[in-house]
Amino acid sequence: MSRYAVRTAVLPSTSQRLKFVVEGETLQVVPEVRSFVLSLSAAGKSVNTISTYVPKIAAFLNWADETPLTDWRTVTVPQLTRFKWSLEAPQPTTEGSYEAPAGRSDATVGLYLTAVVEFLRYCARSDYIDPTTVNRLVEPRYLGHVPASFDPGENGQFRFKLVKQLRTKPVQHRPKTLAPAAVKAVTDATLNPRDRFLIELLNATGIRIGEALGLRREDMHFLPTSINLGCEIAGPHIHIVRRKDNENYAFGKARKSRHVPVEPSLVRTYSRYQAERTRLVNADSDYVFVNLYKGRIGAPYTYSAAMAAIRGLRSRALVPNLHPHLFRHTRATAWIEEGVERDVVQDLLGHAVAASTAVYTHPSPKTLRDAVDRGRIGGAE
Ligand SMILES: [Zn+2]
Repeated sequence: MSRYAVRTAVLPSTSQRLKFVVEGETLQVVPEVRSFVLSLSAAGKSVNTISTYVPKIAAFLNWADETPLTDWRTVTVPQLTRFKWSLEAPQPTTEGSYEAPAGRSDATVGLYLTAVVEFLRYCARSDYIDPTTVNRLVEPRYLGHVPASFDPGENGQFRFKLVKQLRTKPVQHRPKTLAPAAVKAVTDATLNPRDRFLIELLNATGIRIGEALGLRREDMHFLPTSINLGCEIAGPHIHIVRRKDNENYAFGKARKSRHVPVEPSLVRTYSRYQAERTRLVNADSDYVFVNLYKGRIGAPYTYSAAMAAIRGLRSRALVPNLHPHLFRHTRATAWIEEGVERDVVQDLLGHAVAASTAVYTHPSPKTLRDAVDRGRIGGAE
């Protein structure tokens, strides 16, 4: 049975329902926490903010109470680091549950540490504890000039910086990708040759949806050689050209122009779309993607119209999280896994900085599996 528990009480002066920490069987309100809560309330913090702080402080008090040689009033960096680890450790699940127990996310752990350190800072200011306790936990944050409107942030996160050991790292998740079966389902679920070409183009080249919608017919160098067009790049490819006059606001984000090679199968899909386009409209629009079925026929296919089509694909292909950017993540990840050099992938994606490409180099579960499997085969010989 934990020593500290959270209870709600109505504050007579403001009628706010605030959380407090009570202690032992007598349910005595812990005076330091009470004082801290009232100071937050007086400082205009919302009941919600206070409600998120208090249980985290209670968890800290219980942890210190149950950890030998630990007193919350004199907590040290190594001790608070162990508290942090206890938060990150897998949590027991309710009985009968077969869910894999998971630790708290870095963001949640960060909220715990913020609440605890805010509480300890308050205790130091109010002479409940020795200020050196807190000074060990935080680094001073020097602001040469503090503007009058300086906002310390909802959680006061700009007023102090935890020492390095206590900081939670902002995790870089591997971008989500589409499984090959999902790509096929989406492609098969397209309703017309134009949308099929759009999906296959996004999937094959990893270009941004805005770049695709901004493509002009002159950017499609789909012949085996484009010498006649004044381009010396061999094989079929598309050019992503930085333009400022895109009528449909499909403004390429890339700062410089680039080209992306494509497979012959994409060229065939483009031919089928071109045949459909010629059959339906006599549009001399320079844009590759134009309205053929809805809206002003022959006008550039807009982002919102393309997104409406993609929303339709979500339900028909049973890929509820489908988003054009998923194709980009999928293509980039595939290139990295196929061994394409990182700076080449950066060029293909049109990333201005290498850091944007680096997220794709986190090994995927499949890469790790393959590495283990290779090791096993090697070991058996
Ligand atoms: Zn070219």
